[in-house]
Amino acid sequence: MAGRQPIFRFAPSPNGRLHLGHAYSALLNLRMARATGGRMLLRIEDTDTVRCTPAHERAMLEDLEWIGFEWDEPPLRQSEHFDRYRDFAETLQIENLAYPAFMSRSEIRERVALEESGGVEWPRDPDGAPVYPGDERDWSEAHRESMIMSGAPYALRLDSRRAIARVASRLTWEEAGAGPNGETGEVEAKPEIWGDIVLARKDTPASYHLACVLDDAYQEVTHVVRGRDLFPATAVHRLLQELAGLDAPEYFHHDLIEDADGTKLSKSRGDTSLAELRQAGFQPSDIRRKIGLA
Ligand code: GLU
Repeated sequence: MAGRQPIFRFAPSPNGRLHLGHAYSALLNLRMARATGGRMLLRIEDTDTVRCTPAHERAMLEDLEWIGFEWDEPPLRQSEHFDRYRDFAETLQIENLAYPAFMSRSEIRERVALEESGGVEWPRDPDGAPVYPGDERDWSEAHRESMIMSGAPYALRLDSRRAIARVASRLTWEEAGAGPNGETGEVEAKPEIWGDIVLARKDTPASYHLACVLDDAYQEVTHVVRGRDLFPATAVHRLLQELAGLDAPEYFHHDLIEDADGTKLSKSRGDTSLAELRQAGFQPSDIRRKIGLA
């Protein structure tokens, strides 16, 4: 990648109002892009067809323009690229690296609760969700076919053990920022902590991991600058990149903007959004000052 014009991207999901944390990530990306003579791209990660709405997208673009974020090309909207993601998911399935899994989230929770009531300490993934038990990994093709024919909803999951065995070589990435424990420089990726991640399901025809990895390559992104909460996801992104034969960008995981009480901001918790701050009379320059990018 040496010698190429750097390409940065900011990749929010239009599933709620943007908050100060998004403003920090967007403006930090922009600052780095401008400082390196790079291009700044905006990617709209709207693969969750239930939670992402056009109204949220409009509001998001308005907020971004208000804080002075600029992008150099028309945004890429992931919901317009489902075919591309589906093609890769199908390739993985043909190569026996992905399989349909019918257990719902609540069935998984119940199953894990049962194990735990028996004294088993069940692993959690870095997002805190119980790791998928893998019950359906070794089902016969005939059994899968009959379940699909019955109309039972299913998710396509990565067979992480086979996938990791397939790439064989030691998986690493170049971290220019830092992980939660100060990890920096060459970081070893351990995708096994995620278990068999979902690649696609009915309401989300491509998971975040799948679409993000394919688009970073599709958009020729050289520098991924994003919040430290996504540091653990990078392990699984590296695995998918290897399976797809894609180059890895350089990663920079930045500090998270915290609330006055030291907790992470989130859309779902209804934290002070940029829209609320604007309504309360704050100016873009106040926002930049608040996030330390004045
Ligand atoms: N869409 C993700 C989010 O809003 C960000 C993905 C990324 O930067 O890789 O949290």
